[in-house]
Amino acid sequence: MTTADRPPHLRYPEIREAALADLAAFEKLSPDQVPDHQFALLRRQLDHAFANSPFYREKWAGEFGPVRPTDAAGLRALPFTTKAELRGAYPFGLLAVGREELIRYGESTGTTGSPTSSMITYEDWIRGNVAVEQSVGHLLGPGDLVFIAIPYELAFASYDLDRALEQVGAAVVPVGTLSLVCPFERMVEMMWTVRPTALVCTPSRALRLYDMLKDTGRDPAEIGLKTFLYVGETCSPAKLEKIAALWGVQLSNAYGSTETNSLGLVCERGSLHLTEDRHLFEVIDPETTEPVPDGTAGELVITSLAGRAMPLLRYRSGDFVTVSTEPCACGSPRRLLAHHGRVSEQLIVGGRRINKLALEQTVLSTEGAGLYWAAGPAGDRVEIRVEADGGDPEALCAAVAERVTAEFGVPAHVAPIDRAQVRRAMDRMLKPGSLTIEDLEAVS
Ligand SMILES: [Zn+2]
Repeated sequence: MTTADRPPHLRYPEIREAALADLAAFEKLSPDQVPDHQFALLRRQLDHAFANSPFYREKWAGEFGPVRPTDAAGLRALPFTTKAELRGAYPFGLLAVGREELIRYGESTGTTGSPTSSMITYEDWIRGNVAVEQSVGHLLGPGDLVFIAIPYELAFASYDLDRALEQVGAAVVPVGTLSLVCPFERMVEMMWTVRPTALVCTPSRALRLYDMLKDTGRDPAEIGLKTFLYVGETCSPAKLEKIAALWGVQLSNAYGSTETNSLGLVCERGSLHLTEDRHLFEVIDPETTEPVPDGTAGELVITSLAGRAMPLLRYRSGDFVTVSTEPCACGSPRRLLAHHGRVSEQLIVGGRRINKLALEQTVLSTEGAGLYWAAGPAGDRVEIRVEADGGDPEALCAAVAERVTAEFGVPAHVAPIDRAQVRRAMDRMLKPGSLTIEDLEAVS
């Protein structure tokens, strides 16, 4: 058997070297060379999808089968892929390789409760791992002890980070989240005794862990945490500033989705760059689906250029983002990403759309605001709960109401939040960052 005949899982060093070489070659492209490179990969991916993906063969049969775009306008002639279609194709409709090539299978459950599947080949997996490894290697290495406190069940992101950290020589503590083996109480005890140098979790969990440590009479600063890598939840600069100040940590970030793995990774300068070597990104107006100019917020649309197990073409992510061509000091040709939450997470109040992250920024940056807040629409006004940071809660509520009305043009009713209620609600949520008034009422 020659080397090339051996199955991929027995060719790790070779696949890793090829992935590193491709990454390095991509970094040498100038931004204006990126589209040609991407469209060459796209045409190959379309050949693969039409030949092997049952979903795309059926969806694009006849009409789009022969289409091979050479530029962004040509790509826009092809229809979008939606989350509802992914649900419809569950579990194996999108699988474009033989079962013997599948190395990992995961699932996510959306708001409707219907699952979607995510699948990768060994090579897809290693290529993703290598990209994550390059990113975390700027921050962490031997001597670091990293608590990964995101779900390991049915997910890829936790294992992706886990393996990448191992590759850069850091030690991983796979604490997971919401598990019976390691509930929050145990995680807090372990943070105190084991003393991690880095924490991976959602921003809301980082606040909750801080709060629990303080509650048990301990000073979180004594743990010596240096780095906080936040994933799985977008949050406002005001919330991030609180976390950085409370924990005394350096912040870093990674962005991805269950269907695609990592899509945004941080460079040595701390900027979040799109994984444009493996994905082609568009940003559209979520209402009209027309493209928006660079630097304008819109919905991220993802086309996978490299993933063989599950090609995704023009997939509407539902994520509200800004992509910027602003050059980064690291010299990478990849564009920069800023995430503004889910398109569906906007509050609609009196006919106006309020971005939840923008609202969070206003609420938490108000002088005297504490760690927690929640909001929900209530007819033609917005209902807000906020925690005071030791000062007068009534004065804080009045100040928040005034700022929200001035900035968003809607009346606001603001009341103090009950911390015990927040804790009960958060401790049973997979995504505590999306805490709403409804969630609070469900545990009152
Ligand atoms: Zn950079």
